[in-house]
Amino acid sequence: MVRLRARSRAPRARLTASRTPPVLNRLPRSIAGRVSWWPANEAGGQAWCHDQLSAPGGVRDDSGVEGTRAMSLGAHQVQTVLGPVDAGDLGRTLMHEHVFVLTADVQQNYPEEWGDEDARVADAVRRLGELPGHGISTIVDVTVIGQGRDISRVKRIAQQVPGLNIVVATGCYTFDEVPLFFWRRPPSVMTEFFVRDITEGIAGTGVKAGMLKCAVDEKGLTPGVERVLRSVAQAHVRTNTPVTIHTHAAGRHGPAILEVLRTEGADLDRVVLGHSGDLVADPDYLQAMAEAGFTLGMDRFGIDHFATFEDRSALVAELCRRGLADRMVLSHDTCCYIDWFAPGSLDDLRQWHYLHVSQDVLPYLRDHGVPEDQIDAMLVRNPARILSGA
Ligand SMILES: [Zn+2]
Repeated sequence: MVRLRARSRAPRARLTASRTPPVLNRLPRSIAGRVSWWPANEAGGQAWCHDQLSAPGGVRDDSGVEGTRAMSLGAHQVQTVLGPVDAGDLGRTLMHEHVFVLTADVQQNYPEEWGDEDARVADAVRRLGELPGHGISTIVDVTVIGQGRDISRVKRIAQQVPGLNIVVATGCYTFDEVPLFFWRRPPSVMTEFFVRDITEGIAGTGVKAGMLKCAVDEKGLTPGVERVLRSVAQAHVRTNTPVTIHTHAAGRHGPAILEVLRTEGADLDRVVLGHSGDLVADPDYLQAMAEAGFTLGMDRFGIDHFATFEDRSALVAELCRRGLADRMVLSHDTCCYIDWFAPGSLDDLRQWHYLHVSQDVLPYLRDHGVPEDQIDAMLVRNPARILSGA
């Protein structure tokens, strides 16, 4: 039935073979001094164990066994909107996308711009339905609290796009304070919400989250942001669910994030440092973060406001040349509709759509010497490893 699986140590062992990777010498002293490298023998002190799996309070899975999400999933399976999928069947995966990004209470009170629900759903079905024909068979919708997550709507869409796996996320998106709902409640309340989304499902839909998400933006680790990051890390440790972090790449907050994750016992091999591809000016810093264990989210292809297509693509090619293809994932951070911008104001972003990686980025990478095996790493193997832990 359920088999406990030893977590792979290989990637981290390789990454920690040298306590002071050479690239550290190239970092500014202010950054280098803040980087905390994983001790080589920390494995026994973190993450999960059989006691946690069998602890009282675990959910009842389909087989009737008390346990957490890991117990209800097969050893190499990933939760999607329509149920568990074998990691080996995920195929090419876009690790940071959205279906809709909404300001929930504004939409509730001023619904005119959103318009007809059925038309919005049909539009999403049409856009997402194009993905399998372009080689993409899985997306991770990293829409969480603070971004208008509505899983019943995403489920309705997923049921009409059977060729595409949609992994959904739990977490909280804030650049500063925690949402007022959580403000005067103990931090454990937020953590328990995240764990429940992963182990029991979201808002009665039966859909379980397969990713945790938070944000560290320009302000860095404010007390509120650090509280969310710790809740996400604790839910990750308890459920073995991966983490993706929106970052303000130019702020170079990786070392500070690393420090918090280290103290919470997180497994860096399951953490994506999102929006790293915005920092086209500093491949050395990104290499340091990759060698520290993060996977770099090169995940805003099409958002030319921060970096052009050429710059983003050249950065990926350069990091591939440095041997870091196994530490990158590719995505767009796009959506079918976002209400954070006035209608039409993003029309200049002509390549900001779900097909840009397939249509433009991959040909660029091939033309610039990135071998097919490294493309597979970024689009297939790394996502499967991060999502499943296999
Ligand atoms: Zn995003």
